[in-house]
Amino acid sequence: MMLNYDAPLYRPPSEAKSLIFQVTLGCSFNECSFCDMYRSKEYSERPWEEIKIEIDMMAKQLPDTTRIFLADGDALNLDANYMEKIVKYIYEKFPKLERISCYAMPMNILKKTPEELKKMHDAGLNMFYLGIESGSDVVLKKVTKGATSKTIIKSVNKAKDAGYIMSCMIILGLGGKKYSKEHIQGTAEVISACTPQYVGALTLYLENGIKDEFLQKYSGEFVQINDDEALNELEGLLDKIKTKEEIIFRANHGSNAYTIKGTFPQDKQKMLEHIRWMREHPEVVRPQGLRGF
Ligand code: SF4
Repeated sequence: MMLNYDAPLYRPPSEAKSLIFQVTLGCSFNECSFCDMYRSKEYSERPWEEIKIEIDMMAKQLPDTTRIFLADGDALNLDANYMEKIVKYIYEKFPKLERISCYAMPMNILKKTPEELKKMHDAGLNMFYLGIESGSDVVLKKVTKGATSKTIIKSVNKAKDAGYIMSCMIILGLGGKKYSKEHIQGTAEVISACTPQYVGALTLYLENGIKDEFLQKYSGEFVQINDDEALNELEGLLDKIKTKEEIIFRANHGSNAYTIKGTFPQDKQKMLEHIRWMREHPEVVRPQGLRGF
């Protein structure tokens, strides 16, 4: 018998092979105007009895599991003691487990004390996926992200200080044509200031259900960028990121027109050269019909 997930269920692409337990349902914020993932759900935290039954059941069925992802949208909103209890129990039941990760919002991290973050990390919670989306305060406000460039930098650094691996997402095109410059400048500054171990670039894709709300919150100023402009944003971003620490950068998500990957700082020039090459070879663009989230 498999788990009976409360749909819809989302996980980062790199957790495709992970076993997933839903410890919370929905997103405790649920107001980012570009995101429709949990609009159909009301945020709730699942009780221990239910979670324990599922852990016990899957430990019997998949005892060799090495990676587990805790869903839904911001499992880190759970109280630190409760999270520690869940994580400890999972490790007890899965002897070959190497990693537990979950989505986190800047506010989830900032609300926890350094001691609480450390305690959960010591129990075996290793990695957070956090949406930076943009480092521009104007753009963050327009998309009602509920975070500022300062809170993002502070939260990522705080989690890294407690030992977590940070995998962060940014969204090309989120500033539209009008705020493209600010979006890229701010995002490069935020990444340079907090140097997450992983950064993934997606491209804005507005589902029909949220498009009107997104445009309305943008006060009618939003005009979507085209593929050439997305490539310019990517180039500007890579060019402006300044780091001595390693950042594994990926823009290979299915939403992107162009694909690029490499590790900062050593691959920066190579990636920029590849972007210039792609500009001369528009045939490498991912066809519209093959793009999606
Ligand atoms: S982007 Fe993240 S924080 Fe924002 S509504 Fe979606 S799941 Fe919640």
